[in-house]
Parts: sequence; structure tokens; C-alpha cells
Amino acid sequence: MMAEAQSTTSPWEYSDAPESIQVDIAKKYQLFIGGKFVSPKSRSWFATTNPSTEKKLADIASAGKADVNAAVLAARRALPAWSKLTGCERGKYLYAIARRIQERAREFAILETMDGGKPIKESRDVDIPLAAQHFFYHAGWADKLEYAFSGRTVKPVGVCGQIIPWNFPLLMAAWKLAPALACGNTCVLKPAETTSLTALRLAEVFEEVGLPPGVVNVVTGAGETGAAIVNHPNIQKVAFTGSTEVGKLIMNQTAGSGKSLTLELGGKSANIIFADAAIDQAIEGIVSGIYFNQGHVCCAGSRLFVEEPVLDTVVKKLKHRLKSLRVGDPLDKNTDIGAINSKAQLQTIQKYIDLGEDEGATYHSCQTERLPSKGYWCHPCFFTDVQPSHTIAREEIFGPVLSVMSFRTPEEALMRANNTRYGLAAGVWTEKGAKIFDVAKKLDAGVIWCNTYNKFDASSPFGGVKESGFGREGGIQGLRPYVKLGGTS
Ligand code: NAP
Ligand code: MG
Repeated sequence: MMAEAQSTTSPWEYSDAPESIQVDIAKKYQLFIGGKFVSPKSRSWFATTNPSTEKKLADIASAGKADVNAAVLAARRALPAWSKLTGCERGKYLYAIARRIQERAREFAILETMDGGKPIKESRDVDIPLAAQHFFYHAGWADKLEYAFSGRTVKPVGVCGQIIPWNFPLLMAAWKLAPALACGNTCVLKPAETTSLTALRLAEVFEEVGLPPGVVNVVTGAGETGAAIVNHPNIQKVAFTGSTEVGKLIMNQTAGSGKSLTLELGGKSANIIFADAAIDQAIEGIVSGIYFNQGHVCCAGSRLFVEEPVLDTVVKKLKHRLKSLRVGDPLDKNTDIGAINSKAQLQTIQKYIDLGEDEGATYHSCQTERLPSKGYWCHPCFFTDVQPSHTIAREEIFGPVLSVMSFRTPEEALMRANNTRYGLAAGVWTEKGAKIFDVAKKLDAGVIWCNTYNKFDASSPFGGVKESGFGREGGIQGLRPYVKLGGTS
């Protein structure tokens, strides 16, 4: 059920441990075009709020068509010089950006948490270090592209339009920008409406390291701003991370335009626990798989398949583990589950929880935490008695809601895990190495974790199959969408 303020005290009560430093947030944020912060020609602004307090943080410029046009023009002008720099020179800029993100890491983490609602321990330990890692990693590739694509000539694609979601704002910006820049492209980036602040602060970093004007432009705004980028005739490549619905729209809009496209879309990933798995370790994987970042994770392990003999044990241990998850102030260092990113997303999650109960599944949650009176909160929960036909077992919820189901044979597990329109990720838990390889190679998913979940690394390609999209980000494979390959060099 939707969280309400509770008076019961958790057995896991700790003293408050809030982040102590204040981060400066301006009243207004302009667009970053041609190396400068500029007022929007649209004269339009929107507010960004802190989802854990519902307080407005700042006004953000809303880029209209003319603003997007200016950004694309700036990127076009910057392209010849940027693409002709030696890889080594481009790499130096990427190293400098990575180092500056590290130096300003605490500030980035706090801002990410305030704007998006995720727990500070996640922004501090996962999002920001990984964002820096992506720039470091791609800095290393910048002067080695001829080895990445041995025997071929390598050219940049051109001006890249990059549109990102709100669940990992800075990290998604890094996933998009770092490979594009390493390969000599220039970029127009649009962050999500609810989480623009860290992308704008990253633009400050670009100024600090002296990135040539126009190489990266940040245009903030809503879906229309994204659409203006997608449909701009001088964009050569579109990279989109977001919902399958918008991904399909973009695929239609770019069809026949000659623009190259990569899509990282939704998911309904399966986490499969065999009876011979290390169950306590698997419980941690289940928890990280679905409750990390409030379940706002495209590859969340939102469908749990447990081999029948251990179903009761897993459910019992999961219930126990839920009691130890602390929901509340995302700026508190002990918080495990922060705020839901927006009111609209909270309503979507609630709709699915209600549907789960209406369709006959059994709801389990542990509502022992006291919650702030303001903000958007959802207790982590799971459902048992879930049928494959239930809506909660089929549709992406993008919240801390897990559907638990059982299976009897590996074949049944595989059949049910693959019975989805999505194919982003999957998890397999067993102590038997042969079973890992057998099951993993039969799963229809882009990323498969074995005896772990939600582990990311810049050197490891990430992306989906089926309606979870196409194209990879990270690793040598992630460079491919950002280069045009010619004949032998
Ligand atoms: P979304 O509505 O598709 O939005 C993603 C981005 O696209 C936002 O910047 C959004 O702007 C923009 N946008 C909206 N409509 C557009 C249009 N017609 N043309 C161009 N851009 C448009 O997705 P979301 O709800 O913010 O994000 C959650 C979804 O992203 C989930 O389905 C999740 O699975 C997926 N996701 C996938 C991955 C992955 O790697 N596969 C990673 C993270 C998230 P506004 O913010 O203003 O709406
Ligand atoms: Mg916000």
C-alpha cells in the first residue's frame, strides 16, 4: 500500500546521519549552448523540485525549437576542429572532465540526491564514481580507435542528439557523452525534465576544463525539446535512453532519415534462483536487483523466479530482509530507499500495486519506518501468488515492486523468464557452474548476471534485445554507434 507516516519504530533504527554540506543551487539555470550559459529564446522556464520535500529547487530553461536549432548549429560549427584533434588531445579533455567530476564528487552526489530523490549512499558510491569512470575509460580509447576497429578507417558520425531519463541523470549523461566525444563527435544533450541539475553542473565542468565551445551543448526541457532534437535535419545520430513507448516513436520519426539510432529502453527482467543457490547471497541480489534506486532501474530484477523447494525459505528471508531497509530522507547516509522521483511516478507505481491486489496476488511489505510528512514515498514490497498473466508480472513498473513466482525445472524457468516483450537483463543464481552457462546462454537478454545483480562497469557493454532496444553502451562495443568505418586503413 502507499506509504503513510507510521509511528512504529524499526528494529534497525539509527541516529540521523544527514549530509552536512550545503550545495549552492542557483535560482535559475540557463541553456548551455556554444560554450556559454544563455537565456532561452523560448523565454520559457519550468521548475525542478526535490521529490523528498516537494520544495522547488530552481527554475530551468525550457528549450524551444529555436534553442535546439542554436545548439545543433553550435555543435555543427565545433565538429570540424574537434574531429580533427588528435585522439590524444581529445583524450586529455576527457581525462580532465573525469578528474574534475571526482574532485566535485560530493557536490554532484548531493545535487543528484536532492533533484532526483535517490539515497545519497547510491549517488555517492555508484552514480558519481561510475560517471567519472566512463570518462576515464573513454579517454583511454580516444587515441586507440584504430586498434578498436583494426584494419578499418575510423571517422566520427557527426552531431549526436542524446536524450536521457531521470533515473541515473549524471551517469546517463556520461554514458552518452564520453564515447561520442572520444570518437570525435559533437553533442546536443537533453536531460530529463525532473533531473536537469547535474547535467547543467557538468556543463560547468566543461567550462572549467576549457572544452572547446559547442562540443557539448545542454538543452533542458520536456519531451518536445527531445522531439526537436530527434527531428532536426542536422543531427546525424540519435541516442535515446527512456521508455519503450517513446523509443518506438523515435524509431518511426528517424526511419528513412539516414540518422543512425541507438535505443536503451524498458525492461521486465527475470532473476532466477535455483534451489542449490547460496540463498542468503541470493536474497542480497534480489534486494539490490529490485530495490536499488527505488526500483527506478531499467534492468531491475522485477520478476523473481524461485525453484519450488526453496520458495518458502526465500519468501521468509525476503520478508525479514525488508524489515531492515530504511525508507526516508535520501540525504541521510543510512537511507536505503529514498523518494520516488515524481508524483506522477508514485501514482503509476500505486496503480500497479492496486492492480496486483485486484488481480489476486498477495501483497507483502514492511511498513515500520516513520516517513517524512512531505515527499513521494513507496515502501519496498513484493507480491506472491502472482500468475504470468497478471499485469504486475508483464508490465514495467519502474518502482520497488517485485513479483515472486516459482518454477519446477530449468526449462520452465527459461520459458517463463523469456516470455516477455522485453530483453534487457537477467540474473541466475546457482552454485553449479555448468547450469550457469547453460541457462545464461538460453536467456533472451542483453545483460546476464550470475550470482550477482546490478553490477556496472564502463568496460562492460550494456544494452537490450527485443523491445528493450538495440545498440550497446560501454566497452569496445559501445564505441561502434559513434564511428563511421571505412575500408582498410
Ligand atoms: P521517457 O518518458 O521515455 O523519457 C526519457 C527521455 O525522453 C526524457 O528526457 C524525456 O523528457 C524525453 N522524451 C519524452 N518524450 C519524448 C519525445 N516524444 N521525443 C524525444 N524525447 C522525449 O522515459 P522516462 O519515463 O523518463 O524514463 C523511464 C524509462 O526509461 C523506463 O521505461 C526505463 O526502463 C527506461 N530506461 C532505460 C534504460 C536503459 O538503459 N535501457 C536506462 C534508464 C531508463 P522528459 O523528461 O521531459 O519527459
Ligand atoms: Mg527534480
